[in-house]
Amino acid sequence: MIQIHYPPSREYAGPVQDRYDVIVIGAGPAGAATGTLLAEQGHSVLILERSTVPRFHIGESLIPETYWSLKRLGLIDQLKASAFPKKFSVQFFSEGMKPSKPFYFDEYNDHESSQTWQVERGDFDKMLVDNAVTKGATVRTEAHVMEVLFDGDQAVGVKVKFSTGEVREIACRVVADASGQSSFLVHRLNLKTPDTRLKKASVWSYFQGARRDPGRDEGATLILQTEGKTSWFWYIPLRNDIVSVGCTGATSYMFSKGVDPESVFQRELGRCPALQERLQGSTRYTEYFATKDYSYISRQAAGPGWVLVGDACGFIDPVYSSGVYLAMKSGEFVADAVDVALRSNDLSQQALGSWYPTYHQGVENFRKLVYAFYTPGFSFGEFFRQHPQYRSHMTDILIGAVFKPGVDEIFQVMGEVLPPEEVTLAG
Ligand SMILES: Cc1cc2nc3c(=O)[nH]c(=O)nc-3n(C[C@H](O)[C@H](O)[C@H](O)COP(=O)(O)OP(=O)(O)OC[C@H]3O[C@@H](n4cnc5c(N)ncnc54)[C@H](O)[C@@H]3O)c2cc1C
Repeated sequence: MIQIHYPPSREYAGPVQDRYDVIVIGAGPAGAATGTLLAEQGHSVLILERSTVPRFHIGESLIPETYWSLKRLGLIDQLKASAFPKKFSVQFFSEGMKPSKPFYFDEYNDHESSQTWQVERGDFDKMLVDNAVTKGATVRTEAHVMEVLFDGDQAVGVKVKFSTGEVREIACRVVADASGQSSFLVHRLNLKTPDTRLKKASVWSYFQGARRDPGRDEGATLILQTEGKTSWFWYIPLRNDIVSVGCTGATSYMFSKGVDPESVFQRELGRCPALQERLQGSTRYTEYFATKDYSYISRQAAGPGWVLVGDACGFIDPVYSSGVYLAMKSGEFVADAVDVALRSNDLSQQALGSWYPTYHQGVENFRKLVYAFYTPGFSFGEFFRQHPQYRSHMTDILIGAVFKPGVDEIFQVMGEVLPPEEVTLAG
């Protein structure tokens, strides 16, 4: 069952020290991965989460390369033993009707990492957080970071409010901001650059009893464009016969004045016959949720004594389900950089941001594919009919192998659909 409201848990309560090597803001996949790996290296780590654990979160579909982060965290066996539906492929439907041939990930890489999972984020993220505790991190929930404390421009700790009402200042050598879309430091330091090419909004809900394809297609993510391509739906099968169904389009189109999320969802569903057919006879299981204008990047990934990780550093778009993978991958990058920085006692911007140029290159490969997806008149089907040799590049990016050398060759040919000026970031 999908739980939207979770009760507070005593599991993550208890005393905290006055000082840690690292304080992590947020216990999502980015914060949990960063905290786990640093604790494993013997550093003292405090992860502060303002919500409960578990908590409800959007973003259920994993992509195959997440396997390697999960493996490094020691979680593959737990995932294999879980009831999360197995995902072998993604399938695109153009203009609400015509299905493409599914992209089966193992057709390109015959390895167990080619199968991934569709996860309710409450339970998945709790698995990550519990693992952080097992590896030695201290986690405190309902602990709201109100301020990052600076000595000059050097971050030296945080001010946090606990659910008891107690407000504490806690010192640390490094603050890792993994606060997700709240992007705590990005707002405080005025570093946010919205991706103006992607001013999108999404509305979603959960349904029980919707039609799934049989066999290994049962857990496939479906991406269904609506007629006229003004929006697209995701269809993500979860446990207990529940499906996450959401619609994304330009914010100005989706939410014109006075329109409520349910009307938007129903309006767009009316333009997507293939989805109507799948939802026939299903029951809506939750309220409608909505969010908008979530595509942005930070102009800086690190500074003296602080570093950003996961969505706090930037978010592209939901279409290729890259968010959790990039959150965990950046968690690995950041943990490795912070480990070196702590050992060498070099907490400079350069040391804490050393990982960023490599990471950014990979992220840009997702971004370019997202731009292509939204470019009017561009058709992936047509592109691959003309350039079949690039289908494997596309699959590489869809599975998350965005750091693979040569994967960006596809964009030399796809060039005409890309923006004239690429969005860039300082490290
Ligand atoms: C519409 C939509 C659909 C998506 N679908 C997918 C998908 O199918 N697959 C996918 O991989 N990704 C998807 N994503 C993206 C995904 O949700 C995120 O990329 C992912 O959750 C990022 O993880 P994170 O750890 O960086 O941040 P989060 O998971 O958001 O975690 C951040 C945590 O920080 C906490 N926090 C914030 N501020 C504070 C504070 N001041 N003090 C203490 N704690 C704080 C929050 O409570 C939260 O728990 C989607 C995103 C959107 C908008």
